[in-house]
Amino acid sequence: MNRLEPHVRASILAEVDKAFDRQVAFLSSLVGCKSLRGLERGVQELVETALRERGFDVRRIGIDRALVGKHPAFSPATIDYDETWNVVGIKEPEVAGGRSIALNGHVDVVPAGDAKRWSLDPFGGVRTGDWLYGRGAGDMKAGLSALIFALDAIEAAKLSLTGPVQIQSVVEEEVTGNGTAALLHAGYVADAVLIPEPTDEMLVRANSGVIKFRITVTGVPAHPREIGVGVSAVDAVFRLISHLRGLEARWNEEKGDHPGFPEVANPAALTIGTIAGGEWPASLPSSCSFAGRIGFYPGDDPHERVREFERFVAEAAEQDEVLRNCPAPLVEWVGVIQAGYALEPGTEAEASLARAHEAARSAGSPLESAIMACYLDSAIFAVHGGIPSLVYGPAAENIHAIDERVSLPSLLRVTKTIALFVAEWCGTRSVSDK
Ligand SMILES: [Zn+2]
Repeated sequence: MNRLEPHVRASILAEVDKAFDRQVAFLSSLVGCKSLRGLERGVQELVETALRERGFDVRRIGIDRALVGKHPAFSPATIDYDETWNVVGIKEPEVAGGRSIALNGHVDVVPAGDAKRWSLDPFGGVRTGDWLYGRGAGDMKAGLSALIFALDAIEAAKLSLTGPVQIQSVVEEEVTGNGTAALLHAGYVADAVLIPEPTDEMLVRANSGVIKFRITVTGVPAHPREIGVGVSAVDAVFRLISHLRGLEARWNEEKGDHPGFPEVANPAALTIGTIAGGEWPASLPSSCSFAGRIGFYPGDDPHERVREFERFVAEAAEQDEVLRNCPAPLVEWVGVIQAGYALEPGTEAEASLARAHEAARSAGSPLESAIMACYLDSAIFAVHGGIPSLVYGPAAENIHAIDERVSLPSLLRVTKTIALFVAEWCGTRSVSDK
């Protein structure tokens, strides 16, 4: 791998600066697409247009539900995938010889919550000062804009890559990971993968495995005057959740066995994200269900964790003095069932990213790494593809919360880093060399 000449680096960095206002405008239009789960059509059409204008070979890659359960990268699906698809843009080099790269970003976003509590419209894509606000601004449409504009800067610097490059604009990251799983299954792989999730300009050294569940408890409905003969499904659910806090504590206690994880406050992070139950204020509820996620460690078999979770729920219900009067709780798997991964230090991909990171900062600062106690699509490539997968992106605040926003100075630095990294990793030649 040839290092970049100083004048080549300088010229790429200057081109990122020149196009940055256009990049921010593009990011704003991405945030303006309300790409909640299953509603990604608009944003994917926008990305397709952007890629086509830039000369990519653009393809739509759907998700085949029949693969769930047949290929280990796929997680249980709770929707059909007729209206949702990935977009992949490919550029093959005119003169080959370099390494390939897959640049991956997800376009699906989580709900904004109560829009009235936001300072600005969550789907307005509004910039104020150094920040751009909106659901998905940080997680992770800013990163997606960085991928596209990093490649623009390389071309604007009159360089052409000597390795194949793919931009993968994927769906389903926030729920199942099945968007990226479909790409792996269809052979959209490369010598390395880069995913610019919001990481505060750090490299992800490891992430958690995650499983997502829904549990339904059935109670015994009754009139308030005969409350003694009934069992409230809502009360029973609260008891079950408090038992699950014990499972979370138990899984957190295992963190000492996993490098880097002792510093993570809550690697298991049991989240109860939704709850719904009951039928009438003056009736004991007959049914209540809740959904959430819990994490574990790289190297753990996610299906073994599923079985451990199911056993725990069954035993807790049998031993609890309220729950044992109800039918056994129903546990369903409604999202990702995926292992975590650890990025072993010492890959050439990491070394190249570290050089790019330093070169993109005038003060010079080494690339730091961090552990992310959450699901990342990089796990698909790392665990099921054995591909070095780098997750590295801009600083963002309040992701999945109120007033999500991304730092634009950070996005600029990250775009520069990605441009330098891709140029070095894939190799370049001057267009005038033709
Ligand atoms: Zn994300």
